[in-house]
Amino acid sequence: MTQAIRPQPGIMDIALYQGGASQIEGQTDPLKLSSNENPFGTSAKTIAAITQAATGLHRYPPTDHMKLRQAIAEVHGLDAQRIICGVGSDEILTLLAMAFAGPGDEVLYTEHGFSLYRIFALSAGATPVVAPEKDRCVDVDALIDRISDATRLIYIANPANPTGTALDIDALTHLADAVPDHCLLVLDGAYAEFFHGYDGGASLVEARANVVMTRTFSKLYGLGGLRVGWGYAPQNIIDVLNRIRGPFNMSSVALAGAETAVRDRAFVETCLQENAEQRARLTGGLHQLGIACDESHANFVMARFASEAEALAADAHLKSAGILVRLVKGYGFPEALRITVGRAEDVTRVLEALGSFKGAE
Ligand SMILES: *Cc1c(COP(=O)(O)O)cnc(C)c1O
Repeated sequence: MTQAIRPQPGIMDIALYQGGASQIEGQTDPLKLSSNENPFGTSAKTIAAITQAATGLHRYPPTDHMKLRQAIAEVHGLDAQRIICGVGSDEILTLLAMAFAGPGDEVLYTEHGFSLYRIFALSAGATPVVAPEKDRCVDVDALIDRISDATRLIYIANPANPTGTALDIDALTHLADAVPDHCLLVLDGAYAEFFHGYDGGASLVEARANVVMTRTFSKLYGLGGLRVGWGYAPQNIIDVLNRIRGPFNMSSVALAGAETAVRDRAFVETCLQENAEQRARLTGGLHQLGIACDESHANFVMARFASEAEALAADAHLKSAGILVRLVKGYGFPEALRITVGRAEDVTRVLEALGSFKGAE
């Protein structure tokens, strides 16, 4: 890089995002449980809609995403005017930082929070501030304690990644009550559907001027590769975000696929039911093997071993059995592995592999 060309302050402090591994050397078809993807893939109706949309690719897509916003609004009982669609919920989370935080401002999140929050803060030139967690859960009072006059954004994933723990609506309301007017509370609902009875924070968005909810098609809907997410916020915030988003950010394929996906409730219900059953089986199986694990409200669990060395050995053993999980040292858990909840046969494979690992120790 020459002297003259310099990026904005903060950008060179960003380490590249590390995704879940997708390959094991010498193995052709690993069982990938490293990125919280839907083990049942994408619904057949959605694939048909995407294929159909491919016939119109010479046309530019609509800029207002009206049909998708209406479908989301109908299914979730929301106001379509206050929905914004993005290239994954990542885009909405990024736009929020770009629009509402800059040099001298603070962006707050928690100790074990999603790794992208720091990247969003630094990209905007803002200062990341980290609040401690308590027993691997977001600690609302510790967060409130870290709010200052400079805080512009608070990011919380609920349920959280990589722990799978969640705050109930009372705790979220307590937090929202304490957030000052100059600060936005962003509830990242990437795993909201998996938390039974939780609305992702929609009711809090409705009741306040400074709460935003983000959601995604990447997890439950099995569309991580399509890149579709959305946000729900008060009208003035949506109006700000729409000014800075690209007019053609959503491809016609993405719009058509997501619209069909959100309406295909039968597929969603089946996936949710399977996830709840297999999550309970996986959690129970880990406990039986003497491996610690909190109750998860998401589509993954975090298995905690006695030490980093044991976690690395378990990871190596799983790899030798053709199973890929996620190391979460980067999230402050060197002794843990995050394991996506798979189909029944996948969970059986994981538990058998961990059983043989424990037996051989
Ligand atoms: C997966 C995930 C997202 C979703 O990202 P997309 O850009 O919508 O694919 C957001 N937040 C958290 C905490 C996640 O784990």
